[in-house]
Amino acid sequence: MHVLVTGAAGFLGSHLTDRLLGEGHTVLGVDNLSTGSMENIAHLAGESRFRFEQRDICKPFDPGPVDYVFNMASPASPPEYLRLAIETLRVGSAGTENTLEIAAKYGAGHLHASTSECYGDPLQHPQTEDYWGNVNPVGPRSVYDEAKRYAEALVMAYHRSRKVNTHLVRIFNTYGPRLHPSDGRVISNFMMQALLGKPLTVYGSGDQTRSFCYVSDLIEGILRLSRSNEHMPVNIGNPDEFTILECAQAVLKATGSSSELRFEPLPEDDPTRRRPDITRARTLLGWEPRVALKEGLALSLEFFKTKAAATV
Ligand code: UDP
Repeated sequence: MHVLVTGAAGFLGSHLTDRLLGEGHTVLGVDNLSTGSMENIAHLAGESRFRFEQRDICKPFDPGPVDYVFNMASPASPPEYLRLAIETLRVGSAGTENTLEIAAKYGAGHLHASTSECYGDPLQHPQTEDYWGNVNPVGPRSVYDEAKRYAEALVMAYHRSRKVNTHLVRIFNTYGPRLHPSDGRVISNFMMQALLGKPLTVYGSGDQTRSFCYVSDLIEGILRLSRSNEHMPVNIGNPDEFTILECAQAVLKATGSSSELRFEPLPEDDPTRRRPDITRARTLLGWEPRVALKEGLALSLEFFKTKAAATV
């Protein structure tokens, strides 16, 4: 297959590109590098089946015939999408529409990277795909949440009206090597702080929960979904749920650090809990996460150690 990956220089886009190349496909990766980094794809420099174009997908473009489009482009960490508020809304709307036009033009499959943020601060726990969510449409996080919700509506409209073979993955918190060390997410912050001997910044009381999926599990789920006949959203995430305090302890253990915890204010509209119900993924895709948090942190340690060494 000839595959277009948007956001190819990002955390998930680069891992997905590696998997696709490993399976023998050719990949055109595009990224405007607003949050992605060439470092994530530097190892592909000599790979003849990979081509990279720096471009903003919000402007219409024609990559030529493609068999599949993976739309992974978007700022994704809270500090980054707050910094890039309007860009985040545009990539979810105009950018996503442009990728759907490409899929429609070439009869390609299309998978859109959606998010557990579609559920907002959920009143239903764990979250099933048929839960409509509890999203503040005008709060600071709305630039991300509503862009992703609009994108889901757009994808479904292209499926229903233009018969595009679309797929929607709702991605829950994911971590692993190439998670940007300074993009402000909890695992990257804690790993870097622990390795640099700095206090771990716990926002709020640390009682809020998240469920962390290791990147290889997530990519496997995405690929299975892309090859399925399912067009409605599918949660991909690890249902093992941790409080942020438990997460901090797990990072201290994995790094052998004796850093202290420092409590800081909770960001506005920070969801109090999050855990995927993965019955749909289990049933439809035969998918199951395999890597537990402890193991995934160990697998990520080398990456963060290198990053920490580069900052001192
Ligand atoms: N968080 C924290 N300390 C940090 C970064 C994040 O306590 O240094 C908390 C944050 O408030 C949230 C959770 O960890 O409750 C996950 O945050 P992240 O930004 O990784 O992703 P989110 O799930 O909020 O999109």
